[in-house]
Amino acid sequence: MLTLSETFETIRGVAAEPLEGAVCKGMDLDLFFPERGAPTEEAKAICRGCPARFECLRGALERRERFGIWGGVSERERRVLRRRVARGASIDSVVAEAIGRRPAVPSAARERQIA
Ligand code: SF4
Repeated sequence: MLTLSETFETIRGVAAEPLEGAVCKGMDLDLFFPERGAPTEEAKAICRGCPARFECLRGALERRERFGIWGGVSERERRVLRRRVARGASIDSVVAEAIGRRPAVPSAARERQIA
């Protein structure tokens, strides 16, 4: 089983199977694991410009990551998102909304909109 640090390094691109496009690759990992009460804005700002943001946050929700900034979202913010998923919301929609991306419309619904 991977340690937290190994998981983090793998996901963020400094180990065997990097998350493609991870902007934080090679950065100081402490930035993304701030002490309780420490500022998180710098890490969140980096995440906002990362092309891997959706996959990063989605993965963190799936793995139930308890610590750190993933996809620009703190642990407390992820708890709120996880509760929404637990109540039946689509994880893709929850993640898309959290990062400000429009949720994908399922193809059948899209065809109805076009017709
Ligand atoms: S979204 Fe943030 S934590 Fe995730 S890979 Fe990108 S820069 Fe790293």
